[in-house]
Amino acid sequence: MAVEAYFEDIEDKIIRVLRSSKYSVKICVAWISGKIYTPILEDLANRGVNVELVYDNNSTNLRHGVPRSNKYKTYAIDTRLSSSLMHNKFCIVDDEILITGSYNWSNKAKDSFENIVVIRNEFELIKDFLHEFYDLIAYYDAFSSNYVRKCHCGSNLFNLGILGQESGLYDESKIDVWSVCVKNSHVSHLGEEYAQHLRAQLGMKYEPDWCLETYDKDSMLSEFQQERSSSNSLQNYFNSRSGLRIHAIGTIAMDNWNGHMEWDEEPEYIVNIFWRDMYLRKLIPETLYDDYFGGINEIISDHV
Ligand SMILES: [Zn+2]
Repeated sequence: MAVEAYFEDIEDKIIRVLRSSKYSVKICVAWISGKIYTPILEDLANRGVNVELVYDNNSTNLRHGVPRSNKYKTYAIDTRLSSSLMHNKFCIVDDEILITGSYNWSNKAKDSFENIVVIRNEFELIKDFLHEFYDLIAYYDAFSSNYVRKCHCGSNLFNLGILGQESGLYDESKIDVWSVCVKNSHVSHLGEEYAQHLRAQLGMKYEPDWCLETYDKDSMLSEFQQERSSSNSLQNYFNSRSGLRIHAIGTIAMDNWNGHMEWDEEPEYIVNIFWRDMYLRKLIPETLYDDYFGGINEIISDHV
């Protein structure tokens, strides 16, 4: 593994890493200058490098960015709120080099104080960035084909499935579906659904067991493919099943297990959300905390 930081001549460094690519370049940046990068991306594509570019869908990129082309793939990302941006600045080359930092791939950025870090062969880390890259593309694909409902208070609503225990030959579990408002925890119980083998599908069983000493690019890529295909099949499953729409799956957990067991503290419960619809990923939190007199408390009380 090697890590290097750069504060000067950043554009030059980025271009050199891009030109060293053997088979794939994945770029995910808020802004990108077409003047600087289009000829480089075309050169790479011409010698067979698979080039994919994710950028923020804004007027600057529209006027001065990298134009659409059939030589490489572009994904102009719209965020859910007009005030927010696809603000990443990272790039993965050949699944083994990661560039990340504050630097925008724009014309003006070289006049600012900026940094990039170039990290090689740190495969656990690179896998996380690969997931983010393809999560953003999945979000892009879902964008036009879906909708967000609004609560009477104006905040966004999502449907949360609370997953019960599995039982029976087909690992059947009950899912209680609640409508939850993100800002003010307005909740309502929508009904019950049933699913089979869901814990296995959600990756809650059979954790893959990679030995760290042999964790190289090949094991990373095969683990990554496995994780992608299970996340895609889950998304397809929840998109296509009949019944109540489910945007997230969570379980109730005790947040102070040790304190409860050792010090006899009152149990404090939370809702751990471990799967969420790709389209709503930035709207749904990872954890819902007990608000005691509010809607989250209603959900928790219903299940403990
Ligand atoms: Zn509300």
